[in-house]
Amino acid sequence: MDRSHAIRSGGECEETLARLYTFLDGELTAERKEKIRKHLDDCSPCLEAFEFESELRSMIASKSKDECPEILKAKIANILKFGEKAEG
Ligand SMILES: [Zn+2]
Repeated sequence: MDRSHAIRSGGECEETLARLYTFLDGELTAERKEKIRKHLDDCSPCLEAFEFESELRSMIASKSKDECPEILKAKIANILKFGEKAEG
């Protein structure tokens, strides 16, 4: 992950990412949701994380019978570009 991203945003990214799951669960107050939405508006790294998480959820919800869709695996591998498990 890009450390300078979090530093530059003064911890707002950390807070946003920490609340991402709660946000997706719809368990936040309107005020907090608005705050996160605004942050996502001008912070593309957080927006990407949000979209990924959101997509992941809908994928899991719609394909819960599949073990693990190949497209999902590829997507996760693409996001976690740490090169720890470079296969093929
Ligand atoms: Zn951010």
